[in-house]
Amino acid sequence: MRKIIIANWKMNPDSTGRATKLAEESDIEGLVICPPFPFLKVAGKVIKKAELGAQDLFWEEEGPYTGEVSGAQLKDLGVEYVIIGHSERRKLGETDEMAAKKIVAAVKTGLTPILCVGESKKERASGITKEVLEKEVRIDLSLVASGYTLNPIIIAYEPIWAIGTGVPDKPENTVEMAKFIKKTLLASGYTLNPIIIYGGSVNSKNAKDFLKHKEIEGALVGGASLDAEEIKKIVEISKKYA
Ligand code: PEP
Repeated sequence: MRKIIIANWKMNPDSTGRATKLAEESDIEGLVICPPFPFLKVAGKVIKKAELGAQDLFWEEEGPYTGEVSGAQLKDLGVEYVIIGHSERRKLGETDEMAAKKIVAAVKTGLTPILCVGESKKERASGITKEVLEKEVRIDLSLVASGYTLNPIIIAYEPIWAIGTGVPDKPENTVEMAKFIKKTLLASGYTLNPIIIYGGSVNSKNAKDFLKHKEIEGALVGGASLDAEEIKKIVEISKKYA
């Protein structure tokens, strides 16, 4: 099966001109580009092979929610995917209950959710990674648990300590966690068929170590996605293991 690579630009770059250039240069099949909201339109215009994703959405459909963006507004810009529950948002106060409502909003609007889950350094050290993942997955998916078969759902296993640090997870651990997440969903009786990907300091040098495993069905790439050559190399590597 084709592997999926997601480029999370986070709050970068700093101008429309640079965003347009980066989107143009990163335009490759197999890549989902997630620019900040202000650049969705220009990125959507210039990409021909890549697909468009957003970094967040709000759960209400419309109304007095200053600063928020709805699923319909994203869809209108040609967005197909949306990241939900990224640890950088959870750090700012996003809860599992909020992520659960966002998943429903995404599904209702026909967007494919990319749900991010993962443990902190302290949780890993305490040996409670599986408990953390089990709780996040259970609550975040609780509102769409049954009867959700329309679209795939992507779950990104992203150990928080591996994000933006240059220190990735051990691929063998990622494989174990990917299997655990699938098993947890199955045991919960959910009718979901998730695609499990890895995120956390992925670059063109270490991508193969993760993507060669059949259990790891793609990667969420932050820092390295701001370099078009680097992200294209990662996509090319992913194609070797499709
Ligand atoms: C991310 O933004 O989810 C991420 C994994 O970032 P980085 O690749 O920079 O660690």
